Amino acid sequence: MIRIDAVTKRYDDGTVAVDRLSLDIPDGAITVLVGPSGCGKTTTLRMINRMVEPTEGGILLDGADIRQQPVNSLRRSMGYVIQNAGLFQHRTILDNIATVPRLLGWSKQKARGRAAELMERVGLDASLAKRYPYQLSGGQQQRVGVARALAADPPVLLMDEPFSAVDPVVRKGLQDELLRIQDELGKTIVFVTHDIDEAIKLGTMVAVLREGGRLAQFAPPAELLSA
Ligand code: ADP
Ligand code: ADP
Repeated sequence: MIRIDAVTKRYDDGTVAVDRLSLDIPDGAITVLVGPSGCGKTTTLRMINRMVEPTEGGILLDGADIRQQPVNSLRRSMGYVIQNAGLFQHRTILDNIATVPRLLGWSKQKARGRAAELMERVGLDASLAKRYPYQLSGGQQQRVGVARALAADPPVLLMDEPFSAVDPVVRKGLQDELLRIQDELGKTIVFVTHDIDEAIKLGTMVAVLREGGRLAQFAPPAELLSA
């Protein structure tokens, strides 16, 4: 379990992005952070993989402060997916996905085998393997982003508005795929969105943040109070 324990983030210019936030993020489920732009969702997500350090409070992973382990090993245990996929533009789709296993020391053949398997899992046709990112649609690129994040089989996936830039029909397909992947692989997923409908559809638990980085509600979708 990921425990966010009384965390405050104050940036250097004095902006309080997150204000005394406590959340227990359950294993093997999708926890959604939802709220308007600027309410601290991205900051919270980035504190979990130490791209941002809290000003106060701490984050525990299975009971141990995340600062106790080297940041590289922490990040290897957490796949990260962002809005515009962030793919390597000069590498093929297959090699984009194979990059992380290669960095972990897998042979080229094994890494590419793993990448091919993941393409299938996220619903990408094998014929796309040798293409480059610019030759894919936005939705296909997001699928590659998800496959790449899964490549080293991390127990945790951090997803920052991964489907916000694609059109509604494609977004629905991606959401359904994510639910299926979650069901099959049982990952712990922390998913950031500003879209309450997406939060309700995907979340096992939904954390509603409001302006100033404060927690308004934390509940399963069916128990969210309309406010
Ligand atoms: P969200 O993801 O909900 O849109 P963010 O976590 O990106 O919110 O930002 C929360 C608040 O912190 C906003 O007011 C934003 O402008 C501010 N902020 C984010 N990053 C920085 C930074 N590096 N320096 C100063 N302020 C920042
Ligand atoms: P995102 O979609 O991740 O919220 P943004 O466009 O808000 O992206 O932020 C892009 C980058 O700028 C991030 O690294 C974020 O930390 C930083 N940033 C956001 N708001 C501010 C701010 N008010 N002052 C300084 N840096 C900021």
